Amino acid sequence: MKQTARIHDLYRPVAERVRDYREVERRLPVETIREQAARCADCGIPFCHGAGCPLENCVPDFNAAAAAGNWNEAYRLLSQTSFFPEFTCRICPALCEGACCQGVAGEPVMIRQCEKAIIETAFQHGMVRPVRPVVRNGRRIAVVGSGPSGLFASEALNRTGFSVTVYEAAHRPGGLLRYGIPDFKLDKRVIDRRLEIMKASGIEFVTDTRIGQDISGTYLARHYDAVVLAIGTPAARDLSIPGRELKGIHFALDFLRSQTRSIHGEISENPLCAKGQRVLIIGGGDTGSDCAGTAIRQGAAEVRQIEIMPMPPESRSPSTPWPQWPWMLRTSSSHLEGCAREWNLASDCFLGNEAGQVTGVQAHQVEWALSPEGRPLKPAPVAGSERIIECDMVLLALGFTGVPAEGLAKELELDRTPRGALVPAPDRHIYALGDCANGASLVVRAMADAKKVTRQIAKDLLS
Ligand SMILES: Cc1cc2nc3c(=O)[nH]c(=O)nc-3n(C[C@H](O)[C@H](O)[C@H](O)COP(=O)(O)OP(=O)(O)OC[C@H]3O[C@@H](n4cnc5c(N)ncnc54)[C@H](O)[C@@H]3O)c2cc1C
Repeated sequence: MKQTARIHDLYRPVAERVRDYREVERRLPVETIREQAARCADCGIPFCHGAGCPLENCVPDFNAAAAAGNWNEAYRLLSQTSFFPEFTCRICPALCEGACCQGVAGEPVMIRQCEKAIIETAFQHGMVRPVRPVVRNGRRIAVVGSGPSGLFASEALNRTGFSVTVYEAAHRPGGLLRYGIPDFKLDKRVIDRRLEIMKASGIEFVTDTRIGQDISGTYLARHYDAVVLAIGTPAARDLSIPGRELKGIHFALDFLRSQTRSIHGEISENPLCAKGQRVLIIGGGDTGSDCAGTAIRQGAAEVRQIEIMPMPPESRSPSTPWPQWPWMLRTSSSHLEGCAREWNLASDCFLGNEAGQVTGVQAHQVEWALSPEGRPLKPAPVAGSERIIECDMVLLALGFTGVPAEGLAKELELDRTPRGALVPAPDRHIYALGDCANGASLVVRAMADAKKVTRQIAKDLLS
């Protein structure tokens, strides 16, 4: 019998998609998904569930229901562990697939696509409805920040019977789901659709309100039974090399946020548009890749992404054996749209013209000492390898440095770890979750952390 193969052709054609900001991924027909779900072997020990998915989604069970075309049951199983599958099915790197047993000798099951078919079918057929608690327990909780961790915590606490108010500094809720991840990966209507359901379930949202500035943190601590900080890691890592003050050098997140705000009418003109410019992205991760796709859509003349680390291996590195999440080369939809990539390049200084505008970056090649498993350990400069990369715009996509010592951390007298993560004070009913408590990571991990911490909150406040 012919084996069903995993599908690789998931995106709309490049020539079409670079002309708009709509999601790049096309929806696979339901029949195709059923065939793909049937590839799941229903393993005795489901590593996808236990070792892969931080939310502990019961992958083999919902795959079996999807393969049978039983979408009601598939949605019931998926929604038991995951409140917002419509986010993860679009932007999760799918840690579950890295741990799928089919991936040991072949290719993993398309779990993320199965998840997408289940949740979108559920929305289509009106299965996704507000979950209101049977009784309110009389306790009030303030959640600060409405990124994935804040949203997940609000939903969990509301279902338990707490009255939840979410305070958000930005104009619209969603955190990095809305103002970081571009529309072409996550349509913002998907967030709005969910917010309507959350509001209907009794969760209150207060936007354009920065806690610590518009309302003090101590006020919240006095007026609520608990304060949950889900404020993310707002401070971007800088590149303090000569020439940093030149015009045309921006943080990646400012660039991405500006484009999103412009698409959704929050600003009339985008001040950070790359049209006609040669764009150099420093930092080889996903944020940099999102900048590449955005710059290409804006009409950049050239887009290049450079990275100090070496190019990862084409397939799973021995340093991350199955079922670990594999360290390997990843090529995003944005890379395929026309972004040149280079590795082993360290930046020395920015170069500029008389008008104070950046014109290039001087960089040099590095060579990495590797561990026996091939993991990079230490870089050394390659003599005589200096070169200039010409550009008109530089985007710094170098990660984040944690929560600043000033602001809410200071006001609420919270300790920070050496890496800038908030240390909660459960004795005072002040909690922290998501990126602000663990460092910049992934949407699915932020939500899994919210699940864990809200269980603790319920225990602390109700027992
Ligand atoms: C460009 C980019 C792309 C990414 N792409 C992916 C991806 O494809 N897949 C993936 O899994 N992960 C991705 N990530 C990582 C992911 O977005 C984060 O790990 C996740 O959003 C963290 O969630 P969070 O709720 O902890 O924080 P955030 O999403 O950062 O939300 C924090 C919220 O708190 C608000 N806030 C902060 N301070 C205050 C205050 N004082 N008062 C009120 N509100 C406040 C902020 O405005 C924000 O809305 C990406 C990250 C970036 C930067």
